[in-house]
Amino acid sequence: MKYPFLNLSSVNARYAEDLHLAAKRVIDSGRYIGGDEVNQFNKELAAFCHAPYAIGVSNGLDALRLILEGYKKIGRLHDGDEIIVPANTYIASILAVTHAGLSPVLTDPNPLSMNLDAEGIRSSLTERTRAIMPVHLYGRVAWDADIAHIVKKYNLLVIEDAAQAIGARATTDGLYGSRIAGAIGHAGALSFYPTKNLGAIGDAGAVITHDSQLAAAVTALANYGSDVRYHNIYAGFNCRIDPIQAAMLRAKLPDTQAANARRFERAVAYNNVLNHPLITKPLMSAAATDCIWHQYVIRVGNGLRDNLRRYLTENGVGTDIHYPVPPHLQPCYTDLHHKPLPVTESLASEILSLPIGDGTSVKDAAEIARIINRFPLT
Ligand SMILES: *Cc1c(COP(=O)(O)O)cnc(C)c1O
Repeated sequence: MKYPFLNLSSVNARYAEDLHLAAKRVIDSGRYIGGDEVNQFNKELAAFCHAPYAIGVSNGLDALRLILEGYKKIGRLHDGDEIIVPANTYIASILAVTHAGLSPVLTDPNPLSMNLDAEGIRSSLTERTRAIMPVHLYGRVAWDADIAHIVKKYNLLVIEDAAQAIGARATTDGLYGSRIAGAIGHAGALSFYPTKNLGAIGDAGAVITHDSQLAAAVTALANYGSDVRYHNIYAGFNCRIDPIQAAMLRAKLPDTQAANARRFERAVAYNNVLNHPLITKPLMSAAATDCIWHQYVIRVGNGLRDNLRRYLTENGVGTDIHYPVPPHLQPCYTDLHHKPLPVTESLASEILSLPIGDGTSVKDAAEIARIINRFPLT
C-alpha cells in the first residue's frame, strides 16, 4: 500500500530515542505500579488540560466508567438516571453508561459537525436527564454557548468523552473557564489507545476533572476502592495506569500540540484539493484548534462509499470507517431502547476516513485527494 491508513511504527519512530530512555528509566527504577512516574504524568497532563486534576488510568473506557461510578459514589448520579449520548459514537461511550447501571439516551448528531448539538440535547431531555456526554468525535469539540445554556438551565452534569480530542480547544468557555477538551465540563475521559493523537505503547487513559470530590472517588475506585492502604471505602476496581505507559506518554506529551498542528495541515490539504461532486468534506472552521483531526472523515453520496473504498485500495490508499455499525445496531444492544436514528444510520453508510496521521505527508494528502477527484461517477 503506497498510502497506508496508519502505520504506528512510523508514527512512533520520531519519538524512538525518548521512548527507549523512558522505558529504561522505569525498568531501572524498580517501581512498576504507581509512584513518581505516574504522579509526574498526572501533573503534566493536568497542566496541559488547564484542569486541577488529571488521573492516569488503564484505558479510555475505564476512564468513562470511573467517572460515572465516581459520581454515583458521591451521590450525583443514581441507578437508571438518563445520560444523553450521541448515537454515532464509538461503542465504548455507551458501554461505560450501561456498565454503570445508567440509561443512555441515544441522540442523532448534527449532520454537519457529526457531533451532539443543542437541538439534539433538547429533543432528548426528560425529567430523568441528569447528564450529557458530549463525544468530541474525530477530534472536533462538541461545545458551544447553546449547549452551555441548556446545561446550566437544567443543572446537568457534563461528562466529556474526549478520547479522540486531546488538546482540542472549544471556541466558548467551559463551565470552569478551561476550553481544553476533557476540562470543558465537570469531568472528561481521555484515551491513549495507540492510534489516538497521543498514543501509548499499549492501553492507557485518563480522567480529567475540576471536582476534588470526584477526583478522590475516581482515584480510590481505580485502586480497589482504597483511600488509604489496606482500607477500602468502596468495592472498587483495578484500573491503574502502568508507570511504563505514564513514562511513554510523558515522552510524547510535549509534542502533542505540534502533532495536532501537523494533522491540521493535512486536513487543509485535503479540503483544498478535494473536489468531487459526490463527496462532502468535513467542516473546516476558522479556528485551527477546535478540531485536532483525529480522523479526516468524508461523506460519499449515491451509495458509492464502498465502491470508492475499493477504488482507493486498488490505487494504493488505505482507508477506514469510524464506525460502520452504530452501537444500537450491535448484537449486544438489541434490547437497548432508542428512538429512530436516521442521521446516525445514514452517516454509518456514507462515512470514510482518509489517512491523516504522521506517516502521511501534506503532499501525500494532496495526492490522495487528486486520486479521489478522479473517482468515476458511475
Ligand atoms: C478510543 C475511544 C474510547 C475508548 O478508549 P480505550 O482507551 O480504547 O478504552 C472511548 N470513546 C471514544 C470516542 C473513543 O474513540
